[in-house]
Amino acid sequence: MTRKITCIICPRGCEMTVDYEGKQVNSVTDNACPRGAVYAKNEISSPVRTLTTTVLCEDGGVVAVKTDKPIPKELIFECMKEINKIRISKSASAPDVVIENILGTGANVIVTGGEI
Ligand code: SF4
Repeated sequence: MTRKITCIICPRGCEMTVDYEGKQVNSVTDNACPRGAVYAKNEISSPVRTLTTTVLCEDGGVVAVKTDKPIPKELIFECMKEINKIRISKSASAPDVVIENILGTGANVIVTGGEI
């Protein structure tokens, strides 16, 4: 099976062709450097994403937050449910931790900016 994957490691954005079976990558082509092959292999075997979103404040408004490291892509929806349960103070500021080790991923949800 082949799939096109755009590398997001650098702004060049190579459009790579990945040949794979299940989670086993047979070949990666059209990557301009080895980092693209590593990214493509991770995308097939265990894709991860940094989750960037907002959290509601206790008195209205929202504050921007993100995970401090990438989390498994398949857990993003469940993590959003956890984030949507909490309310934080408007005085929260970067890099306050609002959820530690979300869903056992090892990633903390941290504030990235002031109230929006
Ligand atoms: S393959 Fe290399 S050059 Fe191409 S986008 Fe990825 S990191 Fe950049």
